[in-house]
Amino acid sequence: MQTAVLPQQDKPVLSGLPWEALREILKPLPEFRVNQVFQWIPRGIASFQQMTDLALPLREDLEKRFSLYSTVIAGRMEDPDGTVKLSIRLHDGAYIEAVLLVDGAGRKTACLSTQAGCPLGCVFCKTGTRGLTRNLNSGEIFEQFLHLRSIRPDIANIVFMGMGEPLLNLPELRKFLAVLTDTRGIGFSKRRITLSTSGIIAGIRDLADQGPALGLALSLTTGDAALRSRLMPVSWCNPLPKLKEVLYYYQQRQGRRITLEAVLLGGINTRHEDSEALAAFAQGLDVVVNLIPWNPVDAMVFEGRSLREPSSRELAAFTRRLEQRGLKVTQRLRKGRSIAGACGQLGGASQEGYSRREAVYTEGSVVSARINA
Ligand code: SF4
Repeated sequence: MQTAVLPQQDKPVLSGLPWEALREILKPLPEFRVNQVFQWIPRGIASFQQMTDLALPLREDLEKRFSLYSTVIAGRMEDPDGTVKLSIRLHDGAYIEAVLLVDGAGRKTACLSTQAGCPLGCVFCKTGTRGLTRNLNSGEIFEQFLHLRSIRPDIANIVFMGMGEPLLNLPELRKFLAVLTDTRGIGFSKRRITLSTSGIIAGIRDLADQGPALGLALSLTTGDAALRSRLMPVSWCNPLPKLKEVLYYYQQRQGRRITLEAVLLGGINTRHEDSEALAAFAQGLDVVVNLIPWNPVDAMVFEGRSLREPSSRELAAFTRRLEQRGLKVTQRLRKGRSIAGACGQLGGASQEGYSRREAVYTEGSVVSARINA
């Protein structure tokens, strides 16, 4: 995808428009022309001039009236483990991050953001310290995917585990998914998309009722209601008993196993009673528990204590206790930590993307492109 110049924003942007919205905005073009434009946009072309199957006067007319994209890559970092993190500049100067992860089998997963910042302030998450700048529109979500795909074309999975709470931006997320899964364009399978939520009850119900049917992950962190409210303020108005009810409902409607994620904070939610509380919450649900050893972020504290990773002994004991309670437990791969691209570490992009110190990272890493400010 071309990233050299931030597009002018005085014109409507076409990326991220579902087919029907594109047809509307391109009226009176016939449907086969709309199809052609719809298929060109995901290719990340530099301009309308590259739409070579359109007549030249039409290309010029489109160029005058519309922009193709609205974001640019402002910085790129790579971890030796294959993780790529992009800082992406939005048309209004806000920055977001998107990450590409590679697992042991070489499968690529795009981790996308749905908000610039996040209003929910989970105490273990760097994004949460930034507060919310604004929701992203569907084009801004779509372009993260296109930017990552321009680096690694064979993206197999998408997870909404980047910056922001996806269920607080459901309308734009749905538009993005409509574009992404439309078989007239990319035709990405819904089964390969997972949404991770901090537990917005109304959003889960909405998703259960209206779809689309996605993989659902709940960032549970702990089944201890009092502790969860202190770690994740969202829990004050989305209490655990009601959250469990809505997960049942989701499972009944969508018929899919749910992932319970637990970010493990050494000495805070790794105690015996925490594993018991988590197992009690899981009881009766069809779940897999995904343990995420906390990924370090400087200067993060909880009630006066500096956060720390769980020790390997804490992690092993916690896993064993859950397994003894009959739960299926997996552990999140520790990917992208050296570039602050792992879970909970996003949000470092500044007004200038990545600083030179960050971007030129260390020997052994492949470094990129600094910035087209
Ligand atoms: S963990 Fe998710 S919901 Fe919580 S502050 Fe971070 S981005 Fe927001």
